[in-house]
Amino acid sequence: MPVTGSALLKAPGVAGFDEVSYEVKERLFEQVKADLRFEDYLYGCYECGICVAVCPSARFYDFSPRRIAQAVAREDVELVYQQMEEDIWECSQCFSCVRCPRANNPGGIILIMREAAINNGMASAKEALEGYTRIIYKIMSTGTQVSPDMLQPDAFPDWGPEVKDVSDNLELWRRATPPETMHTTSMSWDVADRTLVELYLIWFETGALDMIKQVDEGLHMILEELMEERLEEMGIQR
Ligand code: SF4
Ligand code: SF4
Repeated sequence: MPVTGSALLKAPGVAGFDEVSYEVKERLFEQVKADLRFEDYLYGCYECGICVAVCPSARFYDFSPRRIAQAVAREDVELVYQQMEEDIWECSQCFSCVRCPRANNPGGIILIMREAAINNGMASAKEALEGYTRIIYKIMSTGTQVSPDMLQPDAFPDWGPEVKDVSDNLELWRRATPPETMHTTSMSWDVADRTLVELYLIWFETGALDMIKQVDEGLHMILEELMEERLEEMGIQR
């Protein structure tokens, strides 16, 4: 039996989420529960707070992996929806919370909730990923990581002082990256054609590219065209 009106809700006005019907929220929750990983990630909750104690995001935000685990375990459809509109984007996906004595994986549950939010084109997903367009493009088109030299304030105004801190201390950041990382804004290191093609196929076949479409149609179009062209050049048919 779903529990609603939970006392675990954040203070009114903090969340700022869009109101949708209960049926929509229920459908989203059902999608989360239907994920194949869900059963492995949630076994109930002792409310011990160990996950909160080890969670780096809980130190800096009004965020708690315990609240996530409890809301999902109690099938609190309203609260889960509210968390999908806000809390889940505050997790840094470090998975320190797998220390849970109940064998829960709150970070994994959050990952499933994020995927459901993206697949349903939720406003929170679009907003959370808005500042990452260039990074997603770079990683998915080249199959390699972002180099420190790419993190210039002009390119990432929405990242605020963090980006400026990187660009002001580039020498230090370069020393912290692998030696084969080139000081460039194009590629960190070369990726073999075969590996790149494999990555493209994985992103096509697993629906990762379709997920991009839900949050950024323009980026999806560019990536799809680029990947299809490359696969064609390599004589590979999907
Ligand atoms: S994965 Fe998320 S919820 Fe878990 S400890 Fe890391 S930041 Fe916290
Ligand atoms: S560590 Fe596990 S049992 Fe304890 S509060 Fe977190 S999710 Fe619940």
